[in-house]
Amino acid sequence: MAMATTKQSNDDRSASRQQKVSLAGSTGSIGTQTLDVIASEPERFSLEALGATGRLPEVVIEQVQKFRPAVVAITDPVNGKLIAEKIDSSIDVRLGEDSIESLGECGDVVVNGVVGFAGLSVTLSALLAGKRLALANKESLIAAGPVVQKARRTAGAELVPIDSEHGAIHQCLRSTSHRTNVARLLLTASGGPFRGKSADELSSVTIADALAHPTWSMGPKITIDSSTLMNKGLEVIEANELFGQPAGDDGYGIDFDTIEVVVHPQSIIHSMVEFSDGSTIAQLSQPDMRLPIGYALAYPERIGTPFGKIDWSSLRQLDFEPPDFTAFPCLGLAYEAGRAGGAAPAWLNAANEIAVAAFLGGRIAWRSIPEVISETLQDYDGLQPQNSADVIYADTCARKVAANVVAQMEEVAR
Ligand code: MG
Repeated sequence: MAMATTKQSNDDRSASRQQKVSLAGSTGSIGTQTLDVIASEPERFSLEALGATGRLPEVVIEQVQKFRPAVVAITDPVNGKLIAEKIDSSIDVRLGEDSIESLGECGDVVVNGVVGFAGLSVTLSALLAGKRLALANKESLIAAGPVVQKARRTAGAELVPIDSEHGAIHQCLRSTSHRTNVARLLLTASGGPFRGKSADELSSVTIADALAHPTWSMGPKITIDSSTLMNKGLEVIEANELFGQPAGDDGYGIDFDTIEVVVHPQSIIHSMVEFSDGSTIAQLSQPDMRLPIGYALAYPERIGTPFGKIDWSSLRQLDFEPPDFTAFPCLGLAYEAGRAGGAAPAWLNAANEIAVAAFLGGRIAWRSIPEVISETLQDYDGLQPQNSADVIYADTCARKVAANVVAQMEEVAR
């Protein structure tokens, strides 16, 4: 009885150490769900800093009034001034393109929920400041792999993924202390809105079709990436960056041959790890991003709010099928770029961002997204990035090439 009491008070003490959260990308899908997690566990978490583009000034003002952060960073200086006038004058408001980078130095844990390559500076500044980085911005890890790996070695730096698949693998890997025992990583994919359709059937899909994701509610960029399976392709590279270092170092000795994709339309199993004895450990929950966000914030503890809790009386069926590399060429392109290494993933990512923006802008067809990426990758110059300037250079080159490919396609279509 006495022991039980001591145990209880230890738990209480660790839970009462409040984590200060610095949040980049507060008005996006990950940002608003992170604020949900903070609001649901006010004893555990507080918001130290918040950053956004400023495109939604009313939303930022409301967030600041509710969560009262000490620091607010807004990349758009015009809207940033508007916001500054409406919030408490004691708040440290930082304006301009570079302001978001400073969020990496705030708080105990930095959530990077910025969309796309723009999130790179937050990823690097948080790791170089020796913080816990709760990473939803997979693009920075994919484009800047070799540079991020170096930054991860900073004393105190720690990367916990917010992507649901990688959060699942992170949880499954905790079942072993022997890193060489990991045989395969199995990334699950919902298959997106076009699962089961042939390349022919997919020749005339509309923007609305591609934005109608069956299981996850997310921002437009990632939703389009899910429809092409590029999201899963990027996640394969992300898994290799996170867990693919040599066993015994940071990694588990797996590579692109031992990271596989399994289509699982219900999105209940968020990924699996197969061990050397044939045993597979899976992580299951309802598809709710607040679970992986809360996991990354509280690790190695767990939050007390059961966001992804499964109702086993209504769950009937879990289905699996192999991915269709022919109807969804983006998945194969990602494996190719991942295996090529160097700045090839940066080129893949940049070309994809340009292609997705062109599709959402009505300039190219959905089926042209992989064509833009494939043609762009043919110009990859073999650069091995050593620092963030190299990564930015690779990104800039690839964007230029991809923009030309898009312009040529429009020309032909006319
Ligand atoms: Mg994911």
